[in-house]
Amino acid sequence: MHENNEYNIKEERKNSKERIVTYEECRKNHAASIGKYAVDGCCEFMPSGDEGTAAALRCAACGCHRNFHKKVVRQIESFRHGFSKP
Ligand SMILES: [Zn+2]
Repeated sequence: MHENNEYNIKEERKNSKERIVTYEECRKNHAASIGKYAVDGCCEFMPSGDEGTAAALRCAACGCHRNFHKKVVRQIESFRHGFSKP
């Protein structure tokens, strides 16, 4: 009989998935009033203020609300094998 109860207990959380949310190109139609489609060309949302303030939801580059920007959610898994290929 082995009395080997001293396993190495790893307290690292294997399944912790990190969600990273980024906002990419602005898709607000600036020409909607004339029946056309034209975006402002902003390709990445940059908050114009600190997080938690109203300014954080406004793009510093184009001035549009963050909702107009394409939301991209990435899940990063902390595996040792690396990331899955796209
Ligand atoms: Zn914009």
